[in-house]
Amino acid sequence: MIIGGFLKFTLIDYPGKIAASIFTRGCNFRCPYCHNPQLVLPRRYQLPLDNNEILNLLQERFGRLDGIVITGGEPLLQEGLEIFLEKLKAIGYAVKLDTNGSRANPLKKLINRELVDYIAMDIKAPFQHYVKSIQVPVNLEQIKKSIDIIRESGLDYEFRTTIARNLHTNAEIKEISEFLVPGDNYYLQNYIEARRVGHTNMELQPFEKSELEELTAYFCGLGINCQSR
Ligand code: SF4
Repeated sequence: MIIGGFLKFTLIDYPGKIAASIFTRGCNFRCPYCHNPQLVLPRRYQLPLDNNEILNLLQERFGRLDGIVITGGEPLLQEGLEIFLEKLKAIGYAVKLDTNGSRANPLKKLINRELVDYIAMDIKAPFQHYVKSIQVPVNLEQIKKSIDIIRESGLDYEFRTTIARNLHTNAEIKEISEFLVPGDNYYLQNYIEARRVGHTNMELQPFEKSELEELTAYFCGLGINCQSR
């Protein structure tokens, strides 16, 4: 597995767990707000980290840490992911997987093999505006299939959308409800200005707090467990 980054400790990335985060290198999307260009753009790649060194460290820290977040980049592009997760599970860790939902079959396989415990999937935009949000062609059937797989998995899960003015309108954000059903956990993540993938000059802005509250209330009104962050 190609690991492009490692965070030894986080209290905010895995609900209810004291966790470490592993960032896989490589992504098939090009979201204009992406904070991790060094994991997405080949020209920005840095040398990968040694898998065994990280596993040894995590073996030592088991007990002080109880969860591992596998994030990216897009982890499901990694051929060695399954083997790596087997090793984390052998140590005893709970695993949270972050995914953009573009690879449904590998996702299903990890769930069937009980190698993940919590899944967080990005829903980037409503169907007809998806390409604008990721800047590359996408197979929407994979996105829909991943959502269904996650919802039917019996695991803890969340869907989430990073929203930014100029990328989404209020109406487009509301249309994302076409992907959701009552009872889904859904987070609206307001855009934060930061390092960006940089292949587009799109000027992005966060939404106003009052708009965020109105959007959150809209989804809650549909029976969706929506929060903003
Ligand atoms: S934000 Fe978009 S481009 Fe960045 S890692 Fe996630 S899916 Fe890939």
